[in-house]
Amino acid sequence: MSDSNFKVDTDSDGIALITWDMPGRSMNVIDLTVIEELGAIVETLVADSAVKGAVITSGKDTFCAGADLTLLESLTRAFAEMAKTQGEEAASKVLFEESRKLSQLYRRIETSGKPFVAAINGTALGGGFELCLGCHHRVASDNPKTRVGLPEIKIGLFPGAGGTQRVARMLQPADALQLLLKGDQLRLSRAKAMKLIDNVVPAADLVKAAKDWIKAGGKAEAPWDVKGFKNPGGLVFSKAGMMVFPAANAIYRRETYDNYPAARAILQTVFDGLQLPMDLALQVESRWFAKILRSKEAAAMIRTLFVSMQDLNKGARRPANVPATKLKKVGVIGAGFMGAGIAYVSAQAGLEVVLIDRDQAAADKGKTHSHGLMSDQVNKGRATAADRDAVLARITPTSDYGALQGCDLVIEAVFEDRKVKAETVAKAQAVVPDIVFGSNTSTLPISSLAENAKDPAKFVGIHFFSPVEKMLLVEIIMGEKTGDVALATALDFVRAIRKTPIVVNDSRGFYTSRVVGTYIREGHLMLTEGVPAAMIENVGRMAGMPVGPLSLNDEVAVDLAWKILKATEADLGAAAIDARQKQLLSDLVEKHGRLGRKNAKGFYDYPEKGPKKLWPGLADLQPQHLDPDTIDIDGIKKRLLAIQALETARCFEEGVLTDVREADVGSILGFGFAPFSGGTLSYIDMMGTKAFVALCQTLEKAHGARFKPTKLLLEMAERNETFYGRFAPGARRAAA
Ligand code: NAD
Repeated sequence: MSDSNFKVDTDSDGIALITWDMPGRSMNVIDLTVIEELGAIVETLVADSAVKGAVITSGKDTFCAGADLTLLESLTRAFAEMAKTQGEEAASKVLFEESRKLSQLYRRIETSGKPFVAAINGTALGGGFELCLGCHHRVASDNPKTRVGLPEIKIGLFPGAGGTQRVARMLQPADALQLLLKGDQLRLSRAKAMKLIDNVVPAADLVKAAKDWIKAGGKAEAPWDVKGFKNPGGLVFSKAGMMVFPAANAIYRRETYDNYPAARAILQTVFDGLQLPMDLALQVESRWFAKILRSKEAAAMIRTLFVSMQDLNKGARRPANVPATKLKKVGVIGAGFMGAGIAYVSAQAGLEVVLIDRDQAAADKGKTHSHGLMSDQVNKGRATAADRDAVLARITPTSDYGALQGCDLVIEAVFEDRKVKAETVAKAQAVVPDIVFGSNTSTLPISSLAENAKDPAKFVGIHFFSPVEKMLLVEIIMGEKTGDVALATALDFVRAIRKTPIVVNDSRGFYTSRVVGTYIREGHLMLTEGVPAAMIENVGRMAGMPVGPLSLNDEVAVDLAWKILKATEADLGAAAIDARQKQLLSDLVEKHGRLGRKNAKGFYDYPEKGPKKLWPGLADLQPQHLDPDTIDIDGIKKRLLAIQALETARCFEEGVLTDVREADVGSILGFGFAPFSGGTLSYIDMMGTKAFVALCQTLEKAHGARFKPTKLLLEMAERNETFYGRFAPGARRAAA
């Protein structure tokens, strides 16, 4: 037996300490060898009459990060191969048996007859936390960084190693469903209050406390295996149960529009499982788990939201020839809405920040933003007053450009005005001529802004999304002359502030704004065709978007859309815009002064009290009105997603995007493109390029040339290719 992932020490009291410490890894994860080794250790200990019980802990800073997702990927790949040669049924059987091994191991621990205690020294997530739940007792060390939880739903999966059944028997069913469906990571205080953790002790006492529980006669039996056990929420078919499950179903529909098979599986598994004894309930869970593992949605979400995101975070696009930049001090020019946010996230990451605005008062106001955000954290117990003071101490607000001396990087977030931006570059470069300069412009081409710089090779777009502290994505834009040092520095900065970067080439609207613009435009055009506004908004969410296109336009500002449309017409001619959209925006902005949420008047009204409501005047701006009963909902849904996927394919073909991973990750993190699809290009791959081209052609006939499939798509459809097949991640296309 190889036990290289675990060390076992049995003390003189007969209590075994199993220390999980995978060699060559910074964190413990569950893979096949772990399952085999832990299984063998458990059997040895159970067979040894000298052993009274066991404590499981970790030799790393954290307990366990969960299952190795590459293991899950390889399981599903093996399933697909086997299904081809031996048929779906035989393959399903093997997948079921393989994917339940972990669940069986945890059940073996639970029913071994000897007490097992989880000594949780740090974060325990997913399969790692399920191991803790499979133990008879859980003690944690009071490490403020520790988080526990079952976040599988975030990548289209659900806890398949007993997690759904154990939490459903430990918590009220509504709380259990919430934990499983939201995938929240809990602090220890919360986990203890929910009784998911039994005890929290000082780190130095952790193992002793675990062993003491065994010595004090801790029982080797889970509550649900004791005769007469009652679920905390009572029977499913009871008055209390009926208060929860039908409502949960309705909430599930409202929140997911039935787009997430894993969420549906959680509801089903908990509902069915609570009516069964534990062993049968675990079988039900395993069946659903194997089914979800095979779902296209899980495969796409794991690929984009785990594998690709991790690749990008680790610097997949960083030029290897540039040594790591050690950023210590950054300058942020423009302390307005965006600049204040950039200063905050930088200071929070431990960087010194010089925050410049036109006068001291404006710069100070920018810093106040950080004060507000940190105070919120303190009030919520997520930071201490000392943390707040330390973050604030790192931000120096000033109107003196001389303070930029010593900065390793400068980012401007001044008004969206070429002249103001040019002046800013000149003033900054008079002080720090040689460092990399980043622009947070959202619409101005980077290549032309770079002309103001002393060295355009050191000029790069660093495009943040609002609100900066919440949005995980940063879009880095390469101007024609941007060089490797600028790119590497920008990527090092994004890594330092713990956000995810995508790197795109310069283009009108770059990548994200360009694609988002098509979603918003489609909403506008539907309105002009006579689709009721409420229907457009609801169908946008049904399609999987976080908000409808009209709400989204209100958030980014209706007058901004109007400004961009006018600029596009001026630069590219009348054929580049849609006259119906022009009329609508002109009416809204020029005639009715409806600018969006910012003046509480957009597609919606924003009363001081109560929720926003669609503006009744919209109906008067519609040249025609369709009978809602005649509208093809599924058609609108597809139209709203297809236009974005098609625009992404265009960006890819033009070389604005050069890596399929960035297209997908950018679309989900940047504008919330239907996460279950895995992103804009995965959406095409999931549907199949042939079917996508056919859909575009149908839409082209009905709605015009903007749906015309591109040359590349036609070629790929002809050859039955996928984006991920033809442009394997990492194999970049040359910029056009
Ligand atoms: P804002 O008006 O809130 O802030 C701009 C700030 O720049 C103001 O505080 C202003 O006083 C300051 N400023 C102007 N000229 C200056 C100068 N010469 N020197 C120093 N400070 C100067 O605008 P914002 O929304 O923060 O946008 C800033 C930039 O970020 C723009 O380029 C915008 O396109 C871009 N952007 C905005 C968003 C968004 O959602 N608002 C998103 C991404 C990018």
